[in-house]
Amino acid sequence: NPASASSRHVTPTLLVSRLYQPSNLRDVGQDSRLPGEMTCKSQRLMQQAGLIHPSSPGCYYYLPATVRSMEKLVRLIDQEMQGIGGQKLDMPSLCSAELWKSSERWDLMGKELFRLKDRHGADYCLGPTHEEAVTTLVAHQTTLSYRQLPLLLYQITRKFRDEPKPRFGLLRGREFYMKDMYSFDVNEEAAYQTYESVCQAYTRLFSRLGLRCVQVQADTGNIGGKLSHEFQLPADIGEDRLLVCGSCSFSANVETVSAGRTDCPQCKTGTLVESKGIEVGHTFYLGTKYSHIFNATFSNAQNKPTIAEMGCYGLGVTRILAAAIEVMSTEEGIRWPGLLAPYQVCVVPPKKGSKVDEAAGLAEELVHTFGETLPCLRGEVVLDDRTNMTIGKRLKDASRLGYPYVVVIGQAALEEIPRFEVICQQTGEMMFLSKDGLVDLL
Ligand code: ATP
Ligand code: MG
Ligand code: MG
Ligand code: MG
Repeated sequence: NPASASSRHVTPTLLVSRLYQPSNLRDVGQDSRLPGEMTCKSQRLMQQAGLIHPSSPGCYYYLPATVRSMEKLVRLIDQEMQGIGGQKLDMPSLCSAELWKSSERWDLMGKELFRLKDRHGADYCLGPTHEEAVTTLVAHQTTLSYRQLPLLLYQITRKFRDEPKPRFGLLRGREFYMKDMYSFDVNEEAAYQTYESVCQAYTRLFSRLGLRCVQVQADTGNIGGKLSHEFQLPADIGEDRLLVCGSCSFSANVETVSAGRTDCPQCKTGTLVESKGIEVGHTFYLGTKYSHIFNATFSNAQNKPTIAEMGCYGLGVTRILAAAIEVMSTEEGIRWPGLLAPYQVCVVPPKKGSKVDEAAGLAEELVHTFGETLPCLRGEVVLDDRTNMTIGKRLKDASRLGYPYVVVIGQAALEEIPRFEVICQQTGEMMFLSKDGLVDLL
């Protein structure tokens, strides 16, 4: 029956009463079964809105609205990484200790590494990052030619780190999502070009998200290598201290400058101003550190095996979500980068039995119209069908969750040409629009 076949493709109306977003704010601190304490605004707002639920220190359930938002972020990251030639793969999280012993990081990582044994007594760790794994993979390919470089491989997977202080919700988890990309190049010059193109892709990503991000010189830590930058979102809650010169382009993590310094090492005349930031991305030029250990080579134009020049580039996927919420939100409600909001529009029909009740049918009609005329809004519009609640109460919930647009069926819907109240939550603007006006706006 063709009719029933096509009807399967009609998106059912998303009803707020059916969405699984259990607020668990009240329980935290009072209910001893729920671990952890409220340590920052984004954690509180995300638990309040039913976006995350605490499991064990630094581990969270990512609830459906968070997963929607993460999927949107992953799509944007894919676009940017593939835009510069990145190819996506997926590497095992269960990593053999052998590789980590070869790079000496089995010992260097200390307690941060989650270690375990298999039934035969062999040592493993849960991958906190994948330089060893990806370099071994590339080393196994004996036919890699210079013509295939640069090679950029990336994945977006869970990472595991036994952080000494897991806190601030998704900002510092022990299990979290990271995008990690690894580059292989023919020589140092080519590797620097790749490095630069990744930094530009990161800058584009943050500007598309509408997030102000500063790129600072950074320490290379135990990853090793020669050149490194962090991408930092300025925020008081940030755990990194940044020094930015008032006169020139110099900006660095304090870790790279000697302690207490206030004169700019670059222009020598400017004064360094300190601020705090949340590290959302990190790029490293690695040179041949890992390719040398694992013998990752390519054959050059003379057909000679040559050690590849490498770089690695991390983005904290779950940290970006929480950091965006941290810097954009009000104390009362989440404000999302528009591209990451789990749903774009919430339609609020009148309370059952109210004077406007006769206009209630317009709500479903609006949701339907948006779906029909605006393909980009398909699956993005929710109907707050909890009509036993007042509009005010439902608006408060909508404000907490931060739908970019809230459409209210109020008094003006009873006019000859019905008008609807539209609240743009990002700007706080409010206006009355007809159905056509709404479609234009959205
Ligand atoms: P931090 O200094 O905050 O501990 P890091 O320097 O150890 O971070 P990297 O090894 O550079 O982190 O990892 C790349 C990216 O992964 C970071 O820039 C950050 O966005 C993200 N990240 C690192 N640790 C965590 C964590 N515990 N929870 C969530 N995201 C993280
Ligand atoms: Mg760390
Ligand atoms: Mg760091
Ligand atoms: Mg880092």
